[in-house]
Amino acid sequence: MSFIKFLGTAGARFVVTKQLRSSGGLWLSVGKTNLYIDPGPGALVRCLNSKPKLEPSTLDGILLTHRHLDHSGDVNVMIEAMTEGGFKKRGVLFAPREALEEDPVVLKYVRSYVEKVEVLKENLDYRVGEIQFSTACRHQHRAETYGINFKIKPRSVSLVTDTKFFPELPNLYRGEILVIHVVRLKPVGDDPIDHLSVEDVKTILKKAKPKLAILTHFGMTMIKAKPWVVAEELGKELGLRVIAASDGLKLDLEEV
Ligand SMILES: [Zn+2]
Repeated sequence: MSFIKFLGTAGARFVVTKQLRSSGGLWLSVGKTNLYIDPGPGALVRCLNSKPKLEPSTLDGILLTHRHLDHSGDVNVMIEAMTEGGFKKRGVLFAPREALEEDPVVLKYVRSYVEKVEVLKENLDYRVGEIQFSTACRHQHRAETYGINFKIKPRSVSLVTDTKFFPELPNLYRGEILVIHVVRLKPVGDDPIDHLSVEDVKTILKKAKPKLAILTHFGMTMIKAKPWVVAEELGKELGLRVIAASDGLKLDLEEV
């Protein structure tokens, strides 16, 4: 079975540090290939507490869209879990250069546990097992950040991770399922944190017209506004299927 499971739907610092929502990121399974995306704080615990349990030693890869803590807090322990303490060399780590150099979030000693480290760059194709994907252009975010287009069956999936809105953005992600990080309810004039608001998401969805849009990675203003209400209103206004992810949501790709 191919599926996406949301092991966290928290975005930005307050929702993460207070754990108002979990911050474990996403588990993507396609056929026999398992990829963990953005293992934020709590990823390992969320995997093991998941029902049915998601076993990290079955992972074929771990992908970081960028180095911020809400996306990478558990990356080291997840690498250890994937490789059974480093004793079974396994898997591919995908990460932007910035997450690996200067002030790296991936410890050097765990890097030898994985079979391969692949550096994410703009507009390139990658593959792990049955999961093929490509990056779009670099996002406008304070860290080096890439969103992903997964060319997978039975449904293509795009992940619009953290970014400030920019004019090309609505053209970059054309997956049938669009997972989109919406941190803010309303735009903030000169947002120093560079995140999308509901207005930005509306602009993207009008152009992209996915079969299903899934909102996630909620900041405080979104939590207060009840993401499921925001999603329902957006869906009605745009005539599209829009849902809000909740912690533990599992989406069977065959059923979309
Ligand atoms: Zn984030």
